[in-house]
Amino acid sequence: MSQVFIRPATYEPDALRPLVFALMDAMGGAELSRSCRVLIKPNLLSAARPDHAVLTHPAVVRCVVEYCLDKGVRPSVADSPAIGSFATILRVSGLGAALAGTGVECRPFRDSVKVDVGEPFGEIDLAAEAIRADVIVNLPKFKTHSQMLLTLAVKNLFGCVVGFRKPEWHLRAGADRQAFAWLLVRIGRTLRPSFNLLDGVLAMEGQGPGRSGVPRKLGILMAGKDPFAVDSVACRVVGLDPGDLPLLKAAAAEGPLPEPAIDGALPDVRSFRLPRLTPLLYGPQFLHGFTRRHLLQRPVCDAKLCRLCGECVTICPARAISQEGEALRFDYDRCIRCYCCIEVCPAAALRSADTLPGRVFRRLIFPAR
Ligand code: SF4
Ligand code: SF4
Repeated sequence: MSQVFIRPATYEPDALRPLVFALMDAMGGAELSRSCRVLIKPNLLSAARPDHAVLTHPAVVRCVVEYCLDKGVRPSVADSPAIGSFATILRVSGLGAALAGTGVECRPFRDSVKVDVGEPFGEIDLAAEAIRADVIVNLPKFKTHSQMLLTLAVKNLFGCVVGFRKPEWHLRAGADRQAFAWLLVRIGRTLRPSFNLLDGVLAMEGQGPGRSGVPRKLGILMAGKDPFAVDSVACRVVGLDPGDLPLLKAAAAEGPLPEPAIDGALPDVRSFRLPRLTPLLYGPQFLHGFTRRHLLQRPVCDAKLCRLCGECVTICPARAISQEGEALRFDYDRCIRCYCCIEVCPAAALRSADTLPGRVFRRLIFPAR
């Protein structure tokens, strides 16, 4: 049985610091020794302010860094953002300022090593720093995800796939949500973080995980040694059956997951808005071309919000977005619905939307949704 701690929390430093220290102790932090190579892995997806609830709050990262320093360990803090300059992410997120004076720097992952995560994926490129670390402290953000429903502890480790390799894997996992979930499970089981501290103080609901999501105060920190157990309890926090989370479904298909033991009270969270997921492809294979074109949700752009920055064009693994004059053009035949574009858009100009035939079809097939 794996223990998962839930505690009420705020970002107010005088209250947050002792809480983070206590949670790290409860997960076995006292065993950290001077010789340990410790990697702290927050969510640094893209440049976003703390009140946007896209990234792990800088105050949480700072407290974990202080905890490590207190144990005589100089940790490294790193992530592989989807896009954008790392210096901008550090400035806008407030993390650069939060770490000032600690002597600890936050860097992007650069080098990768090939690691066999098992069939059918084989060898994939993971951050060398994550593979060589004795201890990984995983600091995910509690957010919705329009492709995977929620992004929590296990999904945060996908950030250890270095830079441009990430969209490549989205492409290879294709329009198959379960295949992508399975890949995430394999990465989680390969990296096996020793500490998982989920920032759910200011969480995100709606069409996350980027700026299209809506900040939602949950006022909690969650912690556990097993990221799958943390994710399972996080589902319950927002009223979702853990078996309905694609990632936990993929994990359970490889063997039953142990029942987590919850230490603390589940908060009273009402009407948490999950993103609406529709099946990625309907019907028999010979109809998939038709369903992809006419029935699937698709990314759409609000031209009034778009700044034509080109970040979505750059990140798109399927080369499905181009700029034509003052507008973006989507090639929906190529688009694999990975929603990387929505994730990185700094202007919240992109969202996933139903087609008209798709809406009608879904009402006929799933009248209750
Ligand atoms: S258009 Fe967006 S959702 Fe479609 S493949 Fe490109 S990044 Fe993914
Ligand atoms: S949709 Fe967003 S990411 Fe794409 S060009 Fe416009 S502002 Fe940039």
